[in-house]
Amino acid sequence: MRTGFFWDEHCFWHGGGNYAGLLQVGGLVQPGGGLPENPETKRRLVNLMRVTGLWDHLDTRSADPVTEEDLLRIHPAHYLQAFREKSAQGGGELGLRTPFGPDGYTIATLSAGLAKAALFATLQGTHRTAYALSRPPGHHCLPDFPNGFCLLANIAIAIESAMASGLTDRVAVIDWDVHHGNGTEAIFYDRPDVLTISVHQDRNYPLDSGDFADRGSDAGEGFNLNVPLPPGTGHAGYVEAFERLVVPALHAFQPDAIIVACGFDASLVDPLSRMIAGAETFRALTDMTMEAAAALCDGRLTLVHEGGYSEVHVPFCGHQVLESLSGADTHAPDPFQQKFEGQQPSERFNRYVSTLIAEMEQTLGF
Ligand code: ZN
Repeated sequence: MRTGFFWDEHCFWHGGGNYAGLLQVGGLVQPGGGLPENPETKRRLVNLMRVTGLWDHLDTRSADPVTEEDLLRIHPAHYLQAFREKSAQGGGELGLRTPFGPDGYTIATLSAGLAKAALFATLQGTHRTAYALSRPPGHHCLPDFPNGFCLLANIAIAIESAMASGLTDRVAVIDWDVHHGNGTEAIFYDRPDVLTISVHQDRNYPLDSGDFADRGSDAGEGFNLNVPLPPGTGHAGYVEAFERLVVPALHAFQPDAIIVACGFDASLVDPLSRMIAGAETFRALTDMTMEAAAALCDGRLTLVHEGGYSEVHVPFCGHQVLESLSGADTHAPDPFQQKFEGQQPSERFNRYVSTLIAEMEQTLGF
């Protein structure tokens, strides 16, 4: 069974805003540069897979946009209305750092549609593993407040749609984007049927969320897990956090599907983080998650693209994830491998990260 790869050129046409990096142009901020979230990271992943031939091992397809009904399970009508109106006027901005251009609303519903189609594919059994190259991303988006480049809560919309269709009643989300998955967390915070796990750089974005102490509320108490890692965490720290915290949490929860919020911004050359992950790190995380999915839910695993802002590195990280998912032997070596190995933290730093992980492990009682 081939890995499903859901993508659409139209998602690469999402744009808008007058930014220089994370700053709005004006005053002393010179125009030019654009938002870090741009199509190139994604388009170059597609191109790289075509050049290496990995593309031919995937079942590539587009998807329908999500419906109004899908959207209303997560987002209030007034937000969708405001988004639609601005989009029809040629674009604008709602929330924080979430500009969009002409057709922004349609493109965002298509991006969520790719996530929904990928999840449905694994639940309906047409594919065991699936990847959605969603753009704009979704994991920061709150029901009525888009932020951090995220305009619709892609993964949450997909989960609720699958649940409403009777395809699942128990889903685990692993968010390995380097930023906290605050939107997904907020949407499912009081729910015991969706386990949300976020492994992220401590206090990167948002600044005021992502603490380990935030474990969910009411019936959802214990069904949210934040693993904040210190800036400078490398390959060993990520693997250890997965082995000792993420994988045991999945086993304790027993999901019938796993979704990964797959950001590549823990890359050692990413401009929006301070972590030291390489393509082999993302490959290792994929391998561990596939192993857990095989043990827990017949291998049903969906990855939905989130952040990742190094135009040159993201394609290579994504390539290794898709090599792992598809089992194809078409390999693209990481051009940053030498830098990645040379920059790994000292034993002393790794012991410090290990201590933090052990403290969390002890509290969780795995
Ligand atoms: Zn991110």
